[in-house]
Amino acid sequence: MRKFKDVADFHGHTCPGLALGYRVAILALDKLGDRAVDEELVAIVENNSCAVDAVQVITGCTLGKGNLIFRDYGKQVYTFLKRPSRDRGGKTTDAVRISVKWKPGEETDREKYMWNRYMKGDRSDEVMKEVHRRKTKKIKAILNAKDRELFRVTKEKMKIPCEAQILPSITCALCGEKVMESKARVKAGSIVCIPCSGGINITE
Ligand SMILES: [Zn+2]
Ligand SMILES: [Zn+2]
Repeated sequence: MRKFKDVADFHGHTCPGLALGYRVAILALDKLGDRAVDEELVAIVENNSCAVDAVQVITGCTLGKGNLIFRDYGKQVYTFLKRPSRDRGGKTTDAVRISVKWKPGEETDREKYMWNRYMKGDRSDEVMKEVHRRKTKKIKAILNAKDRELFRVTKEKMKIPCEAQILPSITCALCGEKVMESKARVKAGSIVCIPCSGGINITE
């Protein structure tokens, strides 16, 4: 089992978001077990914050493998399910939905004061020391909390998302670079990539 340190190495720093993602991932593996050979774990994440890096490192659900699905809802919600290999999607399965409900404890007047100074651009030793101490306190609290203090966990029935498909590439008429067929657009009768389509005169 990978540790919080492994997650921090990958992410580049430690922060409360990463700690929450780490706890989410550990709980998900606890509920769904490690990946079986013919079943892979799929994560559906509803934000693209620091937490998602922890989910990728711990669960092995990654953007590149196509078993990390990003829904841009800005919510601290993570859903996990198992997908049989070569599944075409569409079947229903049990999923575990983990919603973060944790709130940091009330801040002291000193913490509020220092945070205000930080937000106004104050990077003095005094302020930085306090900001760092406050962050460390939050990380510790998250790593030591009980699951029920951090999350609301529910079981859901869910349609299995399709595996990422590899489609043929075609060449953009403007930049000459290759673009996956399904992402190509038509502009003034030519097939182009999204950046070259410029967002105008697009017909799908
Ligand atoms: Zn971070
Ligand atoms: Zn192009």
